[in-house]
Amino acid sequence: MPPSPRTVSFNKPLSLVDTTITGRHDWAPGLMTLKLAERGAFRPGQFMNLGLYLPSGFVSRSYSLASAPGEPLEVLLARVGEGELTPALFELREGASIVVDTKAQGF
Ligand SMILES: Cc1cc2nc3c(=O)[nH]c(=O)nc-3n(C[C@H](O)[C@H](O)[C@H](O)COP(=O)(O)OP(=O)(O)OC[C@H]3O[C@@H](n4cnc5c(N)ncnc54)[C@H](O)[C@@H]3O)c2cc1C
Repeated sequence: MPPSPRTVSFNKPLSLVDTTITGRHDWAPGLMTLKLAERGAFRPGQFMNLGLYLPSGFVSRSYSLASAPGEPLEVLLARVGEGELTPALFELREGASIVVDTKAQGF
């Protein structure tokens, strides 16, 4: 069983929650939008971290929020071929679980 996301430590404490992918739109090969069940208070230009439990451990990266504040969170993702996280993100379908920050960052 994976550790609770709340026990994962980074260079500063993050508060992480499990959420669900409620939609996926593929714009082109290697470019997609994921829509999450979580809503968040944020300002345009801020970002959140998305994370997955991979065989190598918990991996998270930062993604700019592409939805309107107050609406369910959306991110636009570009696949990095040799990347650690994005190939796994592109395997996800609607209904899959993902970990997200509870607080937007950046400013
Ligand atoms: C504040 C912030 C906001 C971001 N917002 C977004 C966003 O909205 N959408 C998005 O898709 N990404 C965004 N990123 C980039 C994202 O955080 C990851 O770096 C990216 O998804 C690659 O993760 P990975 O684990 O697949 O690759 P990694 O394993 O981290 O990287 C593997 C290799 O690919 C290189 N690399 C990383 N990204 C790219 C790239 N885009 N093109 C070519 N080479 C690359 C790395 O330098 C490294 O050498 C943002 C980053 C930051 C810091």
